[in-house]
Amino acid sequence: MLIAGNFMSYIPIACFFITLALFLSILFIGSAFICSQFYTKVICRDIRARNKNVFITFDDSPDKTETPLVLEVLKKHDIKATFFIIGEKAEENIELVKEIAGQGHVLGNHSYSHKNYFPLRSTKKIIKEIKKTDNLINSVRLSERIVFRPPFGVTNPSIAKAIKRLKVYTIGWSLKSFDTVTKKRERVLKRLINRTRPGDIVLLHDPVKNIHIVLDKYIEFLKKNNYNFETVDKLLSNE
Ligand SMILES: [Zn+2]
Repeated sequence: MLIAGNFMSYIPIACFFITLALFLSILFIGSAFICSQFYTKVICRDIRARNKNVFITFDDSPDKTETPLVLEVLKKHDIKATFFIIGEKAEENIELVKEIAGQGHVLGNHSYSHKNYFPLRSTKKIIKEIKKTDNLINSVRLSERIVFRPPFGVTNPSIAKAIKRLKVYTIGWSLKSFDTVTKKRERVLKRLINRTRPGDIVLLHDPVKNIHIVLDKYIEFLKKNNYNFETVDKLLSNE
């Protein structure tokens, strides 16, 4: 009886910790999975089912060695893509950013610093970063509605507040290439080919070494399968 009594007394404590673990898990999923839409509205795919559209996007742009090679491939196939630029890197490679825009691609905002602690910054500092990169994009080509993709795809209350205040359109993805995770390019290509569905927003990184080789083959596959190539700004008309 004594043992049973002791056991019963632990139940409220166990319940508290289970609830806390569940709560923290929900917060984690909401933060780490951008398309959970937990903190803010995010455009993650083209929901117009009848269109066989695909949206190729690049994060962490630009890179002075790899980006020109990516641009070459896009030019060869006459395809437009979206480049989410990091303001700080863009400033150092402003001619390259002008080249991206000059070739008709869309420039998106991927913060100014892209520092690991970006998600931990205050709303005020996040707003400052977004504005700084917006100004840079506008200095290259005036855009009415600039799209934003948070670094690491992380959202939280401070980032959500900044997005709300600035009224920016947030873009996620529906297909992740994992090109920064594996060095095996054929694995990246295989994953993209096996998983692409109409309406997908595809996440790639143009600074990844030799990503243009994957891109070339991937575009060939998409063309053979009658996909249309669009830039993410086209999705804003649905909003
Ligand atoms: Zn990034």
